[in-house]
This record gives sequence, C-alpha cells and structure tokens, in this order.
Amino acid sequence: MNTLPENFDVFILGAGPAGLCAAIRLLDMGHVVGMLEQEQFPRSQIGESLSPGIYNIFEYLNAGRLLEDSTYIKNISAKVIWENETHTYDRLGQNTQGIIVDRSKLDQELLKFAVSKGLCLMQPAKLKQSIKSGNGWILEIVNDSIEIRINSKIILDARGRKGTLLDERVSIAPSVVAAWTHIDNSSFDESFVEVTDDGWLWGSPVSGNRYRIMAFTDPGALKKNGALHLSALMSKTKLFSPFVRKIGSSSIATCLVTSFVSQTPWNEQFVKLGEAAFTLDPLSSTGVEKAMRFSLQVAIAVNTYLKDPHSQHPKNFYEEKMLESVVNHTHWTADYYRQAWAYCKKTAFWIKRASFQLDISKNKTGFTLKLEKEFNNDRPIFEHKAIEPIPVDYILLRLWNEEIVVSAKVTFKSVYAIDNDCIVIKQALIHPNLERPLVYLDQLELFSFFKNINGSAISDIMGNLNKSITIEKSKKILVFLLSNQLLIPTRLSAF
Ligand SMILES: Cc1cc2nc3c(=O)[nH]c(=O)nc-3n(C[C@H](O)[C@H](O)[C@H](O)COP(=O)(O)OP(=O)(O)OC[C@H]3O[C@@H](n4cnc5c(N)ncnc54)[C@H](O)[C@@H]3O)c2cc1C
Repeated sequence: MNTLPENFDVFILGAGPAGLCAAIRLLDMGHVVGMLEQEQFPRSQIGESLSPGIYNIFEYLNAGRLLEDSTYIKNISAKVIWENETHTYDRLGQNTQGIIVDRSKLDQELLKFAVSKGLCLMQPAKLKQSIKSGNGWILEIVNDSIEIRINSKIILDARGRKGTLLDERVSIAPSVVAAWTHIDNSSFDESFVEVTDDGWLWGSPVSGNRYRIMAFTDPGALKKNGALHLSALMSKTKLFSPFVRKIGSSSIATCLVTSFVSQTPWNEQFVKLGEAAFTLDPLSSTGVEKAMRFSLQVAIAVNTYLKDPHSQHPKNFYEEKMLESVVNHTHWTADYYRQAWAYCKKTAFWIKRASFQLDISKNKTGFTLKLEKEFNNDRPIFEHKAIEPIPVDYILLRLWNEEIVVSAKVTFKSVYAIDNDCIVIKQALIHPNLERPLVYLDQLELFSFFKNINGSAISDIMGNLNKSITIEKSKKILVFLLSNQLLIPTRLSAF
C-alpha cells in the first residue's frame, strides 16, 4: 500500500486549471507536491470557451494532446453587435481560434496527467485547519472522513472564486451577475454577442449538443424570476430574440461574477492563485487562460522561494505579475464597455462601468495599496497601428555600411526576469517607442548588446549577431531596433 508522505515542499488546495498548472510545473522542477480536492471527478464546471492562448500553455505543460478531443468544438464563427445597434459583424480570433471544451472531462484528464507525474492527491478531501509553524505550515485535512496531518513549506490556495471570503475581496469593477440556460442545439454552430440597454448577452454551442445563452446584467435588475428576466433581455436583441420561445420553463442558473482581487494574496507562504487570487470580467472569455498563465509565474516564484526562503524577490515578483494582469485587463474591459452603443444611452449598467472608482478603504493592506497606485496610474496610450510587412532586406542593404549610435532616449532599469525557472534581476531597456521594458529580443540580452555598440557599422553588427543567432533572426532584431529608433544611423543622430 502507498503511504502518504508527511512532508511536502508545496501543498495545493483545489484541482482546477490553476492548481493543476502550478502542480505540473512544480513537479517538473523536482518538488514534492501534494493536492486536495473536495469534489469527486468528473465534476461539472463553468468556463468552457477557452481563448486561443490556451494551446501554448497546454503545449508548454506537454499536455497539448488533452485538447485533441473529438467532442471539443473548434472553428466557431462569432456574430457580434456591439458598437452599433444596427450593425452585425463577424469577429475573428477569439472564437475561430479558441476551443470549447467539456471542463468536467478536461479538468479530470489534466488531474490524471499531474498524478502520472507524481502528484500526491487526496480526493475527496477538505482542509480542516492550517497552522503556521516555523518556516512552513501544518495542515489538518479530512480525507474521506479520515483526519490526516501533514507539513508543507508553502501552501497554494487554488480553490476558485469561493476560495476567497467576501470580506477579503476588493471589487475591481461594478457588480455584475450572470444568468444562463441551455437549449437543445441541432442547428446553431455560431457564437453570438450582443449589447442591450441593461447588459449584454453571449450565446455559444457547448458540448453535449447544447446551446448556452448567458446574460450579464446588474444584480439589482435581475428579477426574482430569472427565466422572465433572461427572456426580456433576449427579446430586446436581434441575435437572441429567435431563441426566446425555446427557453420556455428551462431552468436558469445565476452566479455573481463581479471581478475582484484578494486583499492579501501572498500571506506568509499561504499563496493564492487562479480565481482565488483574482477574477476577471467575463467579457474576454480568457479566465482559464489568465488563471493558468498566472500559475506558470507562481510556479517560478515558488521555486525561487524554495531555493532561497529569505529572498524578497518571489513575493515581489508574484505581486508585480498579478497587478500587471489585473490592471491591464480591467482597463481593457472598461475601454471595451465604453465602445458599446448602449453606453451613449447612459443606462445604469453602462454608467457604472464608465465611472467605476476603486475603493480600498475597508481593505487596506500592503497589496491593496500597491493595487490602488497601479490602478490610478496614468497609462501611456500606444496606438496599435496595423503592421505593414517590413522590407527587412531592403532596409539593411541601404544601411549596410552606415555607422550607428544608440538613441539618447534609451535608458535601462532593473526588472525581474526569469532564468532557469528562477527569478533574477536583469537590466531592461526603456524607450518612449516601446510599450514595455525589454530585457531580451528573441534570445539576445539587450543590456550587454547595447554596451559597446556605439560607432559600429551595420555590417559588423550583423556579422557579430550571426555568430550566435540565425541570419533571419539577426536581421529581424536589427530592423526592429532601427525602425523603432533605438539605434540611429550616426549621420541622422544630430536631428
Ligand atoms: C459564469 C461564468 C462563466 C465563465 N466563462 C468562462 C469562459 O467562457 N472562458 C473562460 O476562460 N473562463 C470562464 N470563466 C472563468 C473560469 O471558470 C475560471 O477562470 C476558471 O475556472 C478558474 O480556474 P481555477 O482553477 O482558479 O478555479 P476552479 O476552476 O473554480 O477550480 C477550483 C477547484 O477547487 C475546488 N475547491 C473549491 N473549494 C474547495 C475546498 N474548500 N476544498 C477543496 N477543494 C475546493 C473546486 O471543486 C474546483 O475543482 C467563467 C466563470 C463564470 C463564473
């Protein structure tokens, strides 16, 4: 009989995509990892429309084959009515390149994969108590009615949105409720998104030959009779009104989906990830991808912590990455809401979204103070121009014998970077033409590359680059640096 280890490097609560993604990475790094999950699998789970970036993450985990299931739905086109009430258009990208999975199946397969790598699983099990002890934690766990006591150096809390208590949550957007139902689907293979005065609707085929219709609306506006409310919203639309009579007395599920962050996500090596750390507005359908992407970063932070428990870098890196993800997504969402035609009509749902103010007065912690600062920071606005193909060879040929200098606007600052699955400090290049600080271009570390480059000819730089990087990559790097004016031909540098 297999006996459970008593001592773990990392113990994870919850076997959703966030917990499993962290578990797989940490097992790959050689740590002793345990996990508990309260439900028997397969268990149903909402959040099946996965954004295109999910493929990279599964490939990175060596689990890409789990998305190759014949029952999952791919290549779905989407019809959208958003900016203009009378204009329906096809949206490419999110739906056509994403995938609709059966989460009960996918989560179960991912869990099996983690177990095959050595994950020590307790299921069904719940945490009874966690006690801080020295440099780690003692966990009292109830596993199938038996009480177990284990030790772990660090705990990862991946219990989903219910894993964070209401009074530990800070709202990062106005309240919103989701109400949804399913109808039998034999004829619809498209997704729909449409704005109404009081919210917006999303419809999509999902596994099991069903079509899901989901409305996002103000909790105050949701009448007692959810079915009537959903039908009323649908009948105001162009895309969903044909479905109204199919709903009839179908059961309606509702759930508060207000976006929030945990007020103390990394607290004495009790670390939250996935939706226990932050939840995002469902507008982008990227919840699972963002949760897993953050878990990859958490795994790096945990690995660094386990190697050097006294270092401040893991917690700082974790908080920095979480703030980046939350703040960028929140601003993107608010901008997108402002583009909706109904925003101009200034009904309550849309007004709240345009004038939301972050309030941390009841949740002041070191982390929420950082959140407030980042949230209210003025952001430089970068115009995302349509990228024309750059005639790389032509540009390089014309400048082949030119000497270059580094732009006077180039500076460097210390940032966190990742090296060998650990957090390290590197110098990142900053320039007004760059959207974010850059440490590497491809595998080229910019700080050392820029050090002795002043006065060199393009031909010499190409020759040197090509000693360690392929010619095609070298050309692209140089043209990127020249076209963004980080490097300037000497004869033009005085202008
Ligand atoms: C209405 C709605 C629609 C959504 N639609 C989409 C979508 O279309 N696309 C998308 O990408 N995302 C969507 N999401 C978000 C998506 O569901 C989440 O981002 C994703 O599930 C988060 O993964 P997680 O691992 O953090 O949490 P979860 O998937 O919630 O996993 C948490 C796990 O912890 C377990 N657990 C909970 N409490 C305990 C406990 N006390 N003890 C032990 N185990 C516990 C649970 O059983 C579960 O297995 C949606 C969310 C909602 C609410």
